[in-house]
Amino acid sequence: MATKRDYYEVLGVDRGASDDEIKKAYRKLSKQYHPDVNQESDAEEKFKEISEAYEVLSDPQKRAAYDQYGHAGADANYGGGAGAGGFGGFGGGGFSDAGGFGGFEDIFESFFGGGRSADPTAPRQGDDLQYSINLTFEEGVFGKDTEISYKRNEVCHTCGGNGAKPGTQPETCQKCKGSGVLNVERQTPLGRVMTRQTCDVCHGTGKEIKEVCETCQGTGHEKRTHNVSVSVPAGVEDGQQMRLANQGEAGINGGPYGDLYVVFRVAESDIFDRDGSEIYYELPLNFVQAALGDEVDVPTVHGNVKLKIPAGTQTSTKFRMRGKGAPRLRGNSTGDQQVTVKIITPKNLDDEQKEALRNFAELTGQKTQEQQSEGFFDRMKDAFGKK
Ligand code: ZN
Ligand code: ZN
Repeated sequence: MATKRDYYEVLGVDRGASDDEIKKAYRKLSKQYHPDVNQESDAEEKFKEISEAYEVLSDPQKRAAYDQYGHAGADANYGGGAGAGGFGGFGGGGFSDAGGFGGFEDIFESFFGGGRSADPTAPRQGDDLQYSINLTFEEGVFGKDTEISYKRNEVCHTCGGNGAKPGTQPETCQKCKGSGVLNVERQTPLGRVMTRQTCDVCHGTGKEIKEVCETCQGTGHEKRTHNVSVSVPAGVEDGQQMRLANQGEAGINGGPYGDLYVVFRVAESDIFDRDGSEIYYELPLNFVQAALGDEVDVPTVHGNVKLKIPAGTQTSTKFRMRGKGAPRLRGNSTGDQQVTVKIITPKNLDDEQKEALRNFAELTGQKTQEQQSEGFFDRMKDAFGKK
């Protein structure tokens, strides 16, 4: 410590600063430079410097000596036993006594938002659970009422969740005085540091159970099979989920149950495709039906529905069947079914059928490839004048 900075300068206060101003400045800076928080390489050094300055300026006697004699005065009068430099480390003990300010716990509580969120005895909601329901394609469209059954942690029915044998009560943990945490002083290269640990006697509950409940062995929870009625809404799609409040695991320290997320797994259909409320169907037609027109039964999720096919329908023609799709999840409407025509070319024709088609071709002036090829070679011959 060759050149020590002025303690007032270190804390950024002037020489006439009140105890309160010094304390405020210190709290602000120590938070800013605490090595657990500040990752800069000189944070540790700065933090030491700040702590040292505060230790002197927060003590009226030390401050007076410092005011009169500077660093030499502070060192000479009060640095004894604190190691090289007078105030090395965190001042060689007694950091938490400094100026009546609560030491590290106080700082930590400021870091962690007043320490409330870190309170292990506070009630906490239980974990959420997930459950998958497998549905057929039709069940996805129309929904279904069902009951599901699964194991979860519930509040122990014998002790009501406090873990104590009926007729007895949990007592306040002696070791942590009911706080669930222990402040442990640890020796580090920087000096002594206070850290918080979950109490090893009560495991953070703040309660000690002398006679444990036999059902839950003192945990307050027991695994039980739980049944829930689930009303699967009409129109759900694969992967969608529903939250059922309080159907998850039991809470901690008397907190509420977690939630259950029901995930719907909707099977595909061999017949239909579906996108939301829209259902798609490919309608096979033979070319006679397509050419002459027809009225056909088209399968829909609502049953067979008649559809008029106009004469001269081409392959890939689309028809919309209003209201024959899936229900929309929001609102009371239903989507449509979209029908795409696919003309099926006849295969394995017998001689009579082939003859009929050739006649048909002749009648309509259409030529088969064979006939077209002949025509092509005729024209070639013409072109080369070899007639
Ligand atoms: Zn305890
Ligand atoms: Zn119990």
